[in-house]
Formats: sequence, structure tokens, C-alpha cells
Amino acid sequence: MIGEDTSLTEAEREYLEETVETLRSDVFVGDLDQDHFRALDENRESAADWQEFVSRAGDAGLLGISVPEEYNGGGLGVVETVLAEQALGYAGTIVHACQVSLTQHIGRTLYEHGSDHVRDTYLKPLLDGEVVLAQAFTEPSSGTDMAHLDTSARREGEEWVLNGEKRFVDFARYGDLFVVPARTGGEAGDRDGLSILLVEGDADGLSIEMDLSDWHGFRGTGAAWIRFDDVHVPAENVVGDPGAAWSYLTNELNLEHLTIARYCLGAAERALEIAANYTDNRIVNERPLSRYQAVNHGIADAATKLDAAYLLNTRAARLLDEGGLSAGRMEGAMAKAFGNDAAHEVADTAMQVMGGVGTTTLYPVERIQRDVRAGRFLGGASEVMRSIVQHDAYDELRDDAFAGEYVGAELDGTPWVEQR
Ligand SMILES: Cc1cc2nc3c(=O)[nH]c(=O)nc-3n(C[C@H](O)[C@H](O)[C@H](O)COP(=O)(O)OP(=O)(O)OC[C@H]3O[C@@H](n4cnc5c(N)ncnc54)[C@H](O)[C@@H]3O)c2cc1C
Repeated sequence: MIGEDTSLTEAEREYLEETVETLRSDVFVGDLDQDHFRALDENRESAADWQEFVSRAGDAGLLGISVPEEYNGGGLGVVETVLAEQALGYAGTIVHACQVSLTQHIGRTLYEHGSDHVRDTYLKPLLDGEVVLAQAFTEPSSGTDMAHLDTSARREGEEWVLNGEKRFVDFARYGDLFVVPARTGGEAGDRDGLSILLVEGDADGLSIEMDLSDWHGFRGTGAAWIRFDDVHVPAENVVGDPGAAWSYLTNELNLEHLTIARYCLGAAERALEIAANYTDNRIVNERPLSRYQAVNHGIADAATKLDAAYLLNTRAARLLDEGGLSAGRMEGAMAKAFGNDAAHEVADTAMQVMGGVGTTTLYPVERIQRDVRAGRFLGGASEVMRSIVQHDAYDELRDDAFAGEYVGAELDGTPWVEQR
């Protein structure tokens, strides 16, 4: 936040500052320092790096922040969750923030719907920092429209036998645990009949079909296209009721929308900070770039968008804290679309005002500009968010007094005219 953040309590502001401090002093040091950020961006990471990161993130209390402490969560709220994600985007990288984000929304699902077996065997070690998590949702045939996923599981005795393909799966190469939605009943397109299966990373029949890590940004996670060929999953590894996962998934996506937007904004804020300082010190035609209105208005617009996006995000986070993960659908979609679009615009402005040097690896701005790009469709495209907003906004705005034969016949008298 560039201006005063009146949306946060004093305690929440301190939480954000302390989290940034902890990340800088305890997490992103030694083997995981700035050089490691470069290694991630060049896909030179290892399984040990990710194990070390989740262990440090667990020690720093960053995993499953809104899950009760009894299950090794943080015992805090969604507001603290999004603040921690902002801090990770700002002080670390997008992909660190992504791994932690998985523990926030998947952690909530395992806590809210998981059996004692799921909570004890998977949730507790996950939030203790012992598990690298992979979310295997997207398929070749269905990304945005999850109801059309093709991956399926059939019941055989005390097991489910899983078959299908998932792609764009971050941490596919390093995941100790894969969270896999699959069809266990119903027809393609049905919301009923989806289940969430927990698949261990070393399961027979789970394989990497194609490496996808060399993509636009978001590098260093070992992302891949993966296959499940007759993977046997114990029946007790289904989260909640078989066939009932649609609402679990849409609810957890409501939280993921906020964490994705927030960590992209945190990263964009870092890029803006660098750009402001660079332009203040770069002399062009005998004056600093920051004295050129064309440049400083760019910074002004970026700062305004950033603050507006943070405020929308915190409002939506508070609604989830007050009403549970199904609350604040429209406000969350506003925060996701506006936040991710803003993060991309801010990072791009930072690059623009820095000129050529902004495109080099001398500053992290070019990495941030690439990294935040995917946020505009990752976990829910901006277009889909706008579709949600328009639907709920029309419901809010619609007034029965205006219904009828008025439009085009306004001269005969309309509620608009009468109210003037
Ligand atoms: C860097 C990165 C990391 C990712 N990590 C993961 C991961 O760890 N696990 C995982 O499961 N997935 C992951 N994904 C996948 C990501 O969630 C999907 O790319 C996203 O959900 C969109 O699905 P799709 O790519 O199949 O696009 P499609 O569903 O084919 O949509 C393509 C485009 O069409 C438009 N569109 C789609 N639907 C609508 C609509 N209803 N109305 C209007 N326009 C629409 C949007 O512009 C959208 O971007 C990752 C993707 C990227 C790029």
C-alpha cells in the first residue's frame, strides 16, 4: 500500500511489517536468497530447495494461516492470510507465494471437509512444513470450466482407481502430495459427482508426460503435464463426501482468488518501488526522469491502482472471515479481476519508465513483469471474474419499479422521469 491503509487495524499493519521482516531475516537467506530467485527463474531449482522452503515457511507460521493451531495452522484469519501472501510476493517470488497459497486454500478444505484420517495424515504434516504440495486441477479438455474435467476414478473395494491427465501443474516434479479433483459419478458438465482425491507423489501410475517449466514466467516450480494411469488411491484419501466436491472446490477458489491477486500485487509493489527510485535518480536531459510528467503520472496511476486493488482485496478477505469461504462472491471476483489486471499494469508501467534497463536481469522488474502476467487467468480468468461481477451486480442494481414497457416509451412517463 502506497498511501495510509485505513482498511487494516493497527495489529494487522504490524503483522504485515513483521512478516516482511521475518521473510527477509529467516526465510530468504542463505541457500534461498536473491541468487536462488535467479536460479528459480532459470529453472535451476531442486526438490531439496522446495523442501527447505516449505520447512522455513512452516517455522515462520505462514502455512494454513486461517486453519486452527490444533492442526498446525496459524489460527488467524483470511485478512492475515492475504497479508502474508502480499509479503511473500513483495519479499520473495511469485512461486514461493504460490506454494504457500496452496496451503491456505487447500489447507482450509482439508480442515473443513477432511476426515480425522485426512487431517492427521495429510493436513498436520502439510502445515508443519513437511510436504511440498501440488494442485492438479487443470486438464487438456477443461481449465476454466472444471465441471467438464475428464479425469475419473472408479471404485474397486477399498480403493479408487484414478485415470486421466492434468496440465500446467506447478510442483509436479517435487510434489509429495497431489490434490486431484476427479469425476466419480454423474455426467460431463454435472456439478454433482466430483470428488477430491489425495494422491501421494510416489504413487505407482503417476508420471510426467511433458515438462512445461519453460513458460513465460512463474518458473522454478517444475511445472508439467502429468498422467494418472490406474493409480490406486485408498478410499480414505477422498476429502469429504465422494461426489460432493463442487462446493468444496468453488469455496476454496474464492480464497485462492484473493491470495493470487494479493501476491501478484505484492510483487508489483516491489517493481513500482524500484521504478520510482530508479526514475528519481536517472538523469535525462539534465533532470531526473521523475520530473517528467509523462513518467510521474505513470507512477501516480500505478500507485492509485495498487492501493485500490489492496482495498478491494482486504474487503473481500474480511467478508470471508465474517461469512465463511462461500461469502462475498461478487466482491472476491472484483478483487481478483481488478487486482490481477492492476498488478500486471503496475509491473508493466515500472518496466516502461525504466526503459531498456527494466528489461534486463540487472533489476528484478522484468521477472516480476513476466511472473504476474499469468495471474490474469491463473485460478480464474479476469473475464470469468467479470462474468460473476456482472451477474451479481445486475442482481444488486435491478429495481422492479423499472420493469415494464418504459424503455423506448419514456415520453409516456417512466420511473426514471418520475424520480427526477
Ligand atoms: C503460470 C501458471 C501456473 C499454473 N499453475 C497451475 C497449477 O498449479 N495447477 C493447476 O491445476 N493449474 C494451473 N494453471 C492453469 C490455470 O489455472 C489455467 O490456465 C486457467 O484456469 C485457465 O484455464 P486454461 O488455460 O485451460 O484456459 P481456458 O479455460 O481454455 O480459457 C482460455 C481463455 O479463454 C477466456 N475464457 C475462458 N472461459 C471464459 C468465460 N467463461 N468467459 C469469458 N472468457 C473466458 C479467458 O481469456 C481464458 O484465459 C497454471 C497456469 C499458469 C499459466
